[in-house]
Amino acid sequence: MTKQPNIYIETYGCQMNVYDSELVKSICAGRGYGLADTVDEADVVLLNTCAIRERAHLKIYGRLQRLKRAKVEKGLTIGILGCMAQNLKEDLLDGHDQVDFVAGPDSYRELPDLIDAARGIGRGPDAALKLSRTETYSGVDPIRSGGVNAWLAVMRGCDNMCTFCVVPYTRGRERSRDPQGVVDEVKALVGEGYKQVTLLGQNVNSYRHGETRFADLMRMVGDVDGVERVRFTSPHPKDFPVELIDAIAEHPNLCKHIHLPLQAGNDRVLDLMRRTYTNAAFRELAATIRERIPGGGLTTDIIVGFPTETAAEYEETRTLMEDLRFDSAFIFKYSERKGTVAQRRLDDDVPEEEKTRRIVELVALQKQITGEINEALVGTTQRVLVEEASDRRPGDFLCRTDSFKTTVVPGDGLVAGDIADVEIVDSYGATLFGRPLSAAPRASSG
Ligand code: SAM
Ligand code: SF4
Repeated sequence: MTKQPNIYIETYGCQMNVYDSELVKSICAGRGYGLADTVDEADVVLLNTCAIRERAHLKIYGRLQRLKRAKVEKGLTIGILGCMAQNLKEDLLDGHDQVDFVAGPDSYRELPDLIDAARGIGRGPDAALKLSRTETYSGVDPIRSGGVNAWLAVMRGCDNMCTFCVVPYTRGRERSRDPQGVVDEVKALVGEGYKQVTLLGQNVNSYRHGETRFADLMRMVGDVDGVERVRFTSPHPKDFPVELIDAIAEHPNLCKHIHLPLQAGNDRVLDLMRRTYTNAAFRELAATIRERIPGGGLTTDIIVGFPTETAAEYEETRTLMEDLRFDSAFIFKYSERKGTVAQRRLDDDVPEEEKTRRIVELVALQKQITGEINEALVGTTQRVLVEEASDRRPGDFLCRTDSFKTTVVPGDGLVAGDIADVEIVDSYGATLFGRPLSAAPRASSG
């Protein structure tokens, strides 16, 4: 009988990919394959890829180049998974000898057959790329890597079709998991010792299963006994009814942090992006969140240099950021993606130097705002979840406030998974420094 292969999986991109890799491990282990900790121990290397910006592609092409030698010397089998596989099948299979097969995000149940075929056991295709309207991988038990946080996808796909975004093409239409299945999984996670659950979806707050909407699901998950913290990512501002804001405000376990991707501040650009809200509507939503969740964290995503965005229109993004004072922001240069509406209909006409000017300016602005907001927290008491030991500061722990701020705390008597009250004694850039006041009694740890 042929020896079962050892699989090594490398993950790129968003949290959804981290979760998908956990599903893939489970599917491979279910077939009796081994799970390797390093490439050296592996017979099969899987790269779970991202396609959101050009830089994500370049990383994978670079990695494939570096794997060439191992492939020749060890006879390694190499598979490409995820969004880039879905989007660039021909280029990957025809243009790169190292690649034996590709599998898109809805095809992971077929992976063992692809792997076997690539290794010459049985016959099968070298690509599985069908997008599904129903696949949620229910019944697959992710093999998680431990720690205090568990990722949990509650919906997959996206129906929004923002014109810059490749996600609807790589991950298909929206579909949501049965809420009872989600609640049962959260109960099991608590039993395994996880303290925090992060609900995931490409457009997580458009979750809908029968009559259950995202706000209902959040309350149901928050009600699970023993779950200390519930987070979610990534949402769209269009699906933020006041019921969701109130659920977060009222429920002690639902973290007081909302990531609200703005993308741009000018109405013409927002319309071209097909974001379905205006500058004024976004301001109003942010004001409601701030009013109902005082002290909560508000963070965002910004794209600079969307096709045809003028310098004056960009200024509206900057003004909005100055006015709303986000706690932090991910800021990106527009990156044209093959197949999107923007790529087909608009010229990527903002010069690279101008995109650079805008991003440098916004990064500096946000850095200043983040620094000022955090400085004002010195002297306050914050409740943190102790996440892990700090690599850079031996003896210290990395913790998070409810509002999602990284807080470094001396480790005396603490262990990962503790909830502790700390006094903020200092702040440096995006990081807070705290002194423990108390640690809540230790529950069972996993
Ligand atoms: N679903 C979320 C939403 O509606 O805002 C966004 C999820 S997307 C995976 C994460 C972020 O990547 C987006 O908010 C956007 O800022 C950025 N992004 C997506 N496509 C991009 C592109 N073509 N160029 C630059 N940034 C992009
Ligand atoms: Fe992409 Fe988010 Fe828009 Fe969906 S809602 S198309 S994931 S940016």
